[in-house]
Amino acid sequence: MRLVLVGPPGAGKGTQAVRLAERLGVPHISTGDLFRANLSQETPLGLEAKSYMDKGNLVPDDVTVRMVRERLADDDVTKGFIFDGFPRTVSQARSLDELLDERGEELDAVVEFQVDEDELVTRLLARGRSDDTEDVIRNRQQVYRDETFPLLDHYRAIVVSVDAQGGVEEVTDRVAAALQDR
Ligand code: AMP
Repeated sequence: MRLVLVGPPGAGKGTQAVRLAERLGVPHISTGDLFRANLSQETPLGLEAKSYMDKGNLVPDDVTVRMVRERLADDDVTKGFIFDGFPRTVSQARSLDELLDERGEELDAVVEFQVDEDELVTRLLARGRSDDTEDVIRNRQQVYRDETFPLLDHYRAIVVSVDAQGGVEEVTDRVAAALQDR
């Protein structure tokens, strides 16, 4: 199964992606995790991404797409994948469409995580990652609204919206149920 998870920062995409990946037997691909791994290994890509990540801005599309293209060359994605945090712009979505087209593949669904805004800030402040200060959180929410939300229109034919509030297991079950006919 080939899935994209879309939702504002703090919606629980990462947590759910790990659980869904296990249930579906496909790898979880988080561009945020890939950037953080590059950053901790101080690769040129990591150093390039750092200034954007620190401010909660998006890393440029060409850098991000190049990294994803490399990840999709790995053997483990032949059965599918769950993208978490990618694509984040309509331009990235078009690039992903092209990459999949070249492979003769298509997405099965785009899962939209719906959460109240107050709940998001509470969740992120509790997480305490280095880019989880209040200003940066607020900027990431704004970037989501401006750049990422329009993806739902780009993918409207395959969007599945899920209420992402409540317990972790409850939400996983809801997503799995919503995907059953896909
Ligand atoms: P995340 O772990 O998904 O919250 O991502 C953390 C940070 O990594 C974001 O605030 C961006 O700076 C960067 N990032 C992750 N995914 C992308 C993407 N698809 N496009 C651009 N920047 C990204």
